Amino acid sequence: MSVSIDLTGAERPGNASPAAVQDRTSLLGLSRDALGARLRDIGVPDKQVRMRVGQLWHWLYVRGVTDFSVMANVSRDLRTALAERHEIARPEIVEEQISVDGTRKWLFRFPARGAGRPVEIETVYIPEEGRGTLCVSSQVGCTLTCTFCHTGTQRLVRNLTEGEIVGQILTARERLGDLPHADTPIGAIVPNEGRLVSNIVMMGMGEPLYNFDNVKEALAVASDGDGLALSRRRITLSTSGVVPMIPRTGEEMGVMLAISLHAVRDELRDVLVPINKKYPLEELLAACRAYPGLSNARRITFEYVMLKGVNDSLADARELVRLLKGIPAKINLIPFNPWPGTDYECSDWDQIERFADLVNDAGYASPIRTPRGRDIFAACGQLKSESERMKKADRLALAAAVAG
Ligand code: SF4
Repeated sequence: MSVSIDLTGAERPGNASPAAVQDRTSLLGLSRDALGARLRDIGVPDKQVRMRVGQLWHWLYVRGVTDFSVMANVSRDLRTALAERHEIARPEIVEEQISVDGTRKWLFRFPARGAGRPVEIETVYIPEEGRGTLCVSSQVGCTLTCTFCHTGTQRLVRNLTEGEIVGQILTARERLGDLPHADTPIGAIVPNEGRLVSNIVMMGMGEPLYNFDNVKEALAVASDGDGLALSRRRITLSTSGVVPMIPRTGEEMGVMLAISLHAVRDELRDVLVPINKKYPLEELLAACRAYPGLSNARRITFEYVMLKGVNDSLADARELVRLLKGIPAKINLIPFNPWPGTDYECSDWDQIERFADLVNDAGYASPIRTPRGRDIFAACGQLKSESERMKKADRLALAAAVAG
């Protein structure tokens, strides 16, 4: 049985009161240079800035604190000055759901920005043997309307800031007990081994390449060796195919690339992933062939959702192999995860296996992704903010149907 915990208003240090933090500037997600500029603004002398930035970085990203007052090696005057105009709070956790398979999904709420309203997004943690992957959102809603994706039915509200993206990682680590113990010595680093959040995928709500600058800043912070220290090889950015931004992703972010492919003919991809009308398959695959750093050790992952009678024929599989010729690639076959209101069905298991075998025989790794967290609607393509979602009773009924 899955578990759902309502954490609205729970007493926890990371829970930001939307009203309380609105007028302060968040320091989360800022680059070292931007953090230095903030320190200069509040009077820190130039010669001290580098050292102070290093201290803050440690408290924010190694220790994961949410309160300036616990930064023991920062002077009391500086802590007070920082707290007057800045905040380091993380999102409010509205709900935490835990699947029967251990997958966790959080509904996070961020304070209003400007004249806007508070916003809610979902973040998912998938534990696996020897690793744990956090699926992070980049936007509230999405402008793209991929027809198999639940998020695509929620209009775009706004981009998430770099701090809101980093805040998802820090809050997940805290909830999982993945932050160091309080008596960890100052100066300690985040160990490579034994981490619960060992991998990040920018594959949650939104198209990350439509929020390029904020995603880039956030991933630079996430991969900084003195902080969260997630290797860029353990960070994957998934795009529906924003072709002009693909070269910059490789050059400026240096992370692993995943493409939401889902169809091998333009007529069908125009329907499943409508951005294809703007950037058709030929242009998309040319950008993949030229992806900076592409090699057998740094393959591109192509995501392919298996839709019964739509894209799952063996002719589709053969065309997929032909299209990807010459691209070091891995193909993730994703059994379709149903959501309320969709007309699509998941391909039969036998057909998925035949499809996988054909692709595999052509020399491409083609794992069939085990559906995770279906009972809490945390699986691929199922994310949507609670505020836009169906009533809980309907959700439970559908979850029972999916499980049974
Ligand atoms: S698959 Fe990604 S890009 Fe397409 S609608 Fe869903 S969230 Fe947006």
